[in-house]
Amino acid sequence: MAAERAPWLVLGGGIAGVTCAEQLALQFTEDDVFLLTAAPLIKAATNVRQVSRTLEEFNVEEQASSTLERQHPNIKVISSAVRELKAEEQRVITEDGRHYTYDRLCLCAGARPKLIVDGNPYVLGIRDTDSAKTFQSHLAKARRVVVVGNGGIALELVYEIEGCEVIWAVKDKSIGNTFFDAGAAEFLIPQLRSDKPETPLACKRRKYTTESSAEREESRLGSALGPDWHEGMNLKAAQEFSRCVHIEMECEVQRILLGDEFRQLNVLAHCVPHGNAAENSAASGTVEWPVYVELTNGKVYGCDFIISATGVVPNIEPFLPGNNFEIGEDGGLKVDDHMRTSVPNVYAAGDICTAAWTPSPLWQQMRLWTQARQMGWYAAKSMAADHLGEKIEMDFCFELFAHVTKFFNYKVILLGKYNAQGLGLDYELMLRFTKGLEYIKVVMQNGRMVGAVLIGETDLEETFENLILNQMDLSAYGEDLLDPNIDIEDYFD
Ligand code: FAD
Repeated sequence: MAAERAPWLVLGGGIAGVTCAEQLALQFTEDDVFLLTAAPLIKAATNVRQVSRTLEEFNVEEQASSTLERQHPNIKVISSAVRELKAEEQRVITEDGRHYTYDRLCLCAGARPKLIVDGNPYVLGIRDTDSAKTFQSHLAKARRVVVVGNGGIALELVYEIEGCEVIWAVKDKSIGNTFFDAGAAEFLIPQLRSDKPETPLACKRRKYTTESSAEREESRLGSALGPDWHEGMNLKAAQEFSRCVHIEMECEVQRILLGDEFRQLNVLAHCVPHGNAAENSAASGTVEWPVYVELTNGKVYGCDFIISATGVVPNIEPFLPGNNFEIGEDGGLKVDDHMRTSVPNVYAAGDICTAAWTPSPLWQQMRLWTQARQMGWYAAKSMAADHLGEKIEMDFCFELFAHVTKFFNYKVILLGKYNAQGLGLDYELMLRFTKGLEYIKVVMQNGRMVGAVLIGETDLEETFENLILNQMDLSAYGEDLLDPNIDIEDYFD
């Protein structure tokens, strides 16, 4: 079959793919840059704001592909999923049978939710706009949901869902341990017990804009939602009360039983302590539910549906047959320090890839917006450098892990080894904690700051970022570092 030639081919219309295509289009204005994507809409980072040297904020907008093509006339967006990669021939084949040959290809196909079970209609994952809408329609009628998982999505959901009971099954000893430790979790938990403020607190996160319905089509491979995905979305179920979250700590889902299967067991389901669902006013356990979750701690809860927020699996399957990709332990395509996969002329960026280079001691990969954008941008730079026979240094953004987000309506900033990841026992923690206001933790190693968690409006991000990057010996300052009566910025000027 005749193939169209694409000197630069980027696959995936999420933040990694779009950033990569934009960067290539700017650098090679005479060349066509092809962006192949399974979803009808693409994601664009707009209004990028540099908060500090390594922290950045941006809006994420879902746009029609024509908007990108207007901004970059040499980008051609092709809406079709890729079903096959013949890397030896430098060719991709789309699901609708079109062939494209490339000089250099960047795979940015993202990842999908890792569900606790596949194919169960009562188990939902949230990834893209369509799955978020499915969730919303289920929630509208729900009396009780079970949320499984302990990452960012689970944290957001348990805080945002209103008007129905939430049972949160957490496998760890504390909530949110992907992002912070038990101390920070204790700081945040009271927020789950209180009503949400009417208006959001000062910290505003990136905007997530949905498209007009006319532009939306069904797609099974939409790009990932991101920050503030629930804004503008009604996450209120039918009942009158606001929040009711019950946490089951250190347990996983043992099995899921449909209503009939559960009834055959002839046992009583558990009630939610202080819950609001009808069963608590009736005799214990007599309310019937469409589905039941048995936890490894032996408890069985009935619910209307289950949200599985238990991580993601990179979308690599269509690209594997016949190609010699090295795969990381987390299932991503391994990339080197120039975002090159193990297959010649094929690069990868964003959620699909596994960073397989020796990282800076203060950086780790996490599948987040910021890293998708940084990797997409850097992959384009590397593709260009390889094409031109130039050498480039690893970008500065990979020096220090830096992430700004919002949990339970608090601004949360994570820097470096914020959770002492990989430090063994050789580290110290310093804490400053003001109930309801701020939680500050710094991780120190050999007198140097190597990580920090800042929750609330602490205004310390820039100072701490500099201290971490400079690796200054801070032993002499001791606990003054976190003394609220000392203006630490002046201290280090
Ligand atoms: P994606 O955005 O998933 O894009 C992948 C693209 O590839 C899509 O356009 C898809 O259509 C296309 N594609 C897939 N397969 C094919 C194929 N075979 N052929 C052609 N095209 C294909 N991150 C944060 O930093 N902060 C947050 O608060 C945050 N919250 C999140 C909340 C939710 C609910 C979710 C799901 C994610 C969240 N994330 C958050 C993570 C963040 O959204 C992702 O890390 C980021 O979007 C990854 O971008 P990507 O471009 O690599 O992949």
